[in-house]
Amino acid sequence: MTDYMITAGINIIAVANQKGGVGKTTTTVTLAGLLAQQGYHTLMVDLDPHGSLTSYFNFDPETIKDSVYNLYQQAVNKTPLVIDKIIQATGFERLSLFPASTALATLEKQLGGRSGMGLVLAQALKQLDKTYQYVLIDCPPMLGMLMINALAACDQLVIPVQTEFLAIKGLQRMLRTLKMIEHSLHTPVSYHVLPTLYDQRTRASKECLQTLREDYKTHISRAVIPVDTKFRDASYVGKPLSMMAANTHGVLAYSQFLEEIGAGDIKHSDNATVQQQVNKQINNSADYQQAM
Ligand code: ADP
Ligand code: MG
Repeated sequence: MTDYMITAGINIIAVANQKGGVGKTTTTVTLAGLLAQQGYHTLMVDLDPHGSLTSYFNFDPETIKDSVYNLYQQAVNKTPLVIDKIIQATGFERLSLFPASTALATLEKQLGGRSGMGLVLAQALKQLDKTYQYVLIDCPPMLGMLMINALAACDQLVIPVQTEFLAIKGLQRMLRTLKMIEHSLHTPVSYHVLPTLYDQRTRASKECLQTLREDYKTHISRAVIPVDTKFRDASYVGKPLSMMAANTHGVLAYSQFLEEIGAGDIKHSDNATVQQQVNKQINNSADYQQAM
């Protein structure tokens, strides 16, 4: 896609990083929640065998009967890919979930080396063209067939990176993986690096953000996701944070990011103003003090 412009039809955004705990699931839930609230029919896909996204919405990935796993069984059996019967309502308007089951962990072993498995998700999502405007894919923290499926299916890739130095190494690894996959897909993937868990009171966070901005000039987002304890509260009650507390600094930062990548309602607001607002909230937030 050029200039990250969203065209009519379905827009697929994958959220991936091989490092765990960087905010992939939080990013998926928050962006999807915001898009649903803006009036877009939005589907979240859980490709992580841990099923954190699935658990977030109170489904049990250990016991769930139908999941993303079915899709690969259908592909192996060469039966038509049926996705709509597996999709679950979340209880929130316009927000649906394509759940994971822990059985997904066995897929790599079962299907490793079998050809044609990389495009299964892309083909299945094509059927949904008229039903959803946005699909957000939460990727597993490892390179394998599921990650390849996500990258082959997406229009844009978001790589959340925790603002600490070890995470930069993880980002380099993720980008090497991306290069390899792009090579085998014969198509470039447009990606955005999204700094997460930013703690402006620590030197490590500030220096890390500066390094990211210098090293990934054209890919780094202006939006920076701050540490916001409300994300944990939201996961506890199983709601996207924007549906609980729309004006917290974390949600504002994710809204800014959506605008930046040309997704959702583009208000053409001045991003600098939004960031100022976010910074002000960070300074004032009592929660933030608690988080330290
Ligand atoms: P991943 O999916 O990459 O493993 P998660 O989204 O599950 O990462 O985040 C890991 C943990 O950090 C979770 O407990 C989550 O609630 C918390 N978290 C994520 N983003 C933030 C944030 N911006 N502020 C505070 N806590 C966060
Ligand atoms: Mg996760």
